[in-house]
Amino acid sequence: MTRPTNREQKGSLSPAEKIGFTAFLLAVLLLFFDPWLATLPLFLFLILCLAAPFFPQVGFFLPIISRSVTGSKGVALTFDDGPSPSSTPIVLELLARYQLKATFFVVGEKAARHPDLIADILAQGHTIGNHSWQHDNLLMLRSRKRLQQDIHQTQEVLKQSGIQSLAFRPPAGISNSRLRQVLLDEDLVTVTFSCRIFDQGNKKITNLAQRVLQKLKARDILLLHDIAPKKEAMATYWKNELNTLFSSLRKGSYDVQPLERLIGQPVMIYQKNKGL
Ligand SMILES: [Zn+2]
Repeated sequence: MTRPTNREQKGSLSPAEKIGFTAFLLAVLLLFFDPWLATLPLFLFLILCLAAPFFPQVGFFLPIISRSVTGSKGVALTFDDGPSPSSTPIVLELLARYQLKATFFVVGEKAARHPDLIADILAQGHTIGNHSWQHDNLLMLRSRKRLQQDIHQTQEVLKQSGIQSLAFRPPAGISNSRLRQVLLDEDLVTVTFSCRIFDQGNKKITNLAQRVLQKLKARDILLLHDIAPKKEAMATYWKNELNTLFSSLRKGSYDVQPLERLIGQPVMIYQKNKGL
């Protein structure tokens, strides 16, 4: 599987840079006609910059993969926010029961506390991505240095399990203009999602399976959460819903594929029995 390296993107301009440059040129040209009119392209560019972080799938600041890019009509499963002893073993058991592969976008701090769960995920042939160190939802408002530290710290913890993650998913799916260079330095690409049911981290799981199946389309990357609902009854309900979902995915017309196959590039490099 070939990987268009992140390094290749280093010299290229992001859409934000190209649009910003064009807006500036346009503003200079318009200055000759009407100074007020000249502010219009700059104003529109500013609006785009303010809105873009909330639409990461557009890839305004940096290239973002949010669905199949290989032409494959499969779907990929991803689980965010783990690992956790109260949820990861349940997800793993169900994935094994239905012979499905998934990618776990883990929180570094939790991965550091549960290397055994990271090992279990890997032992079953699933892949692992970087989902930041503490899942700070305001991470994209922090300085570039802080952003770098946060992502790097998670990479370091994963290295202790023998993994170099190649995929980063920003907390809450929000991106910003500083993220691009940080990810280039860490050799990571941004992988978000194209299908979710707004479960609020498994707080809203009523009819989870049915809601997913109504929305899921060919080529989608599905976002689910590796978090157990707090109340025991709800945790059991969640497990049953996942069971129903996986069973339907297995029997239905969906071709569930590993994420790396759907996006045509590896999600991680794993050296078994070897902390890097
Ligand atoms: Zn998350």
